[in-house]
Amino acid sequence: MASESSKNESASDTTHFGYEQVPVAEKRGRVAGVFTSVAHKYDLMNDLMSLGIHRVWKRFAIDLAGVRPGEKVLDVAGGTGDLAREFARAAGPRGLVILSDINAAMLGEGRKRLVDHGLVNVPAVQANAEALPFAEGTFDCITIGFGLRNVTDKDAALRSMTRCLKPGGRLLVMEFSKPLNPLLGKAYDQYSFKLLPLMGRVVARDEASYRYLAESIRMHPDQQTLKGMMENAGLARVQVYNLSGGIVAVHRGFRLE
Ligand code: SAM
Repeated sequence: MASESSKNESASDTTHFGYEQVPVAEKRGRVAGVFTSVAHKYDLMNDLMSLGIHRVWKRFAIDLAGVRPGEKVLDVAGGTGDLAREFARAAGPRGLVILSDINAAMLGEGRKRLVDHGLVNVPAVQANAEALPFAEGTFDCITIGFGLRNVTDKDAALRSMTRCLKPGGRLLVMEFSKPLNPLLGKAYDQYSFKLLPLMGRVVARDEASYRYLAESIRMHPDQQTLKGMMENAGLARVQVYNLSGGIVAVHRGFRLE
């Protein structure tokens, strides 16, 4: 079902929460429950689950974003702020980097971590990616890392992020995607459905949230479907960069006008 588009989500009364079918109005609350529950262990679990490789994926996206001094950057669904932190360093004192997330617990962890790194000038804004509270054409660069698959109406989120870009600005979507090699896919399935929930139970005392993680990845649109959705949202020159054999993909597109 990885190619399912979010068109179905907005057109019907139900949508998916992992493999479960739930009323559309319920999904946001269910996702909030997951991230409120895992917020305090989120960074530790990221390192454990990916054996630290999420740092390499993020480094790739940061380099591809190519933030320059003085630029305005918005990190949507920014959670604990891994991307925003590097963007703040790259944009420098003349730039503006905003960390945004729908979830207060994740945003709180993010703000704490930014301050721990001496970054006190990164505003944190609680906002839904589907309806961002920023003026049209504000940002040079917008990113959403491992966030889009949690959003109920992904098309609305892509349109909202595109609207907030300046003409010429870029949107980067980093998300779990579809492994290119079927053998890798099989091994990855074993890992996701056996080991991940076990780690969630032992480390975060929350098996269900990590089962949701595995399921939500399988329900997320694959590389080509997401590329099409970005183009439908008004982005051009959309390119796909597969990382770790397609386990993760970074999509970058530009708002031309
Ligand atoms: N970007 C961070 C990273 O890469 O480590 C955090 C990713 S975390 C897996 C997903 C984040 O998406 C959570 O912090 C969650 O609160 C946020 N999120 C979920 N639905 C959202 C929505 N509709 N709008 C904005 N953020 C959302």
